[in-house]
Amino acid sequence: MNNIIALPAFKDNYIWALHSLDGTEVIVVDPGDPKVVFDYLQKNKLKLSAILVTHHHWDHSGGVRALVDHFDSVSAYGPIGEKVDGIKHFVSEGDEIVFPSFQLTLKVLEIPGHTLGHVAYFNEDILFCGDTLFSCGCGRVFEGTAQQMVTSLNKLKALSPRTMMYCGHEYTLANIHFAQNVEPHNKALKNRRILVEDLRHRDLPSLPISMGEERKTNPFLRCEEPEVIDSVQKYAKISLNDPISVFAHLRQWKNEF
Ligand SMILES: [Zn+2]
Repeated sequence: MNNIIALPAFKDNYIWALHSLDGTEVIVVDPGDPKVVFDYLQKNKLKLSAILVTHHHWDHSGGVRALVDHFDSVSAYGPIGEKVDGIKHFVSEGDEIVFPSFQLTLKVLEIPGHTLGHVAYFNEDILFCGDTLFSCGCGRVFEGTAQQMVTSLNKLKALSPRTMMYCGHEYTLANIHFAQNVEPHNKALKNRRILVEDLRHRDLPSLPISMGEERKTNPFLRCEEPEVIDSVQKYAKISLNDPISVFAHLRQWKNEF
């Protein structure tokens, strides 16, 4: 397995650094701040091989131009539907990117909603999903519709329960607070809170987390669960008959929480 390290950036972003098997090269995911990457490469004497960008927001893509200008041989990948300065390789649904020296192949999923061109990179073991899915939460629907976001989250939900999810922000504890209001009787969520509080207390990332665990604890992946529907209906004060309406009101609730 490739070693994957969280590089904290800004207030609560993570730039993910995926190492080659021999430990000499890295691929970085969503380098919003180039200085964080430059410092990490220098300190650990690493070569930057590639950059993956999930969506155009500056806190995920703002470092691409400086990194590709500095390192000639770096390949930068990003979504076909979005403009990111420095990206030369545009990816779309079904594409496969092969990194021979990492013995790694990543596939591309289009997951619009947070932004219209947002993509994820994944294989059986790992998922980089930017700001679409967070642990115990999901991204705000800035550019797309609730319908698009639900379709995107369903694509992620369909991945193997063993797949480890690496998202773009450390929002887990705040998300758990909200999720426990939605599902006060969810035991898996209670247990997750204890684990995450301990990790955060020691200043460690709450990530990655398996998709199997997310399915048990993330209300945005659980819009068909009776307790979620019931709570959202009480909040919205109307009867909701389909998962998209449940999601839309759940997202609205979180925005106002
Ligand atoms: Zn974003």
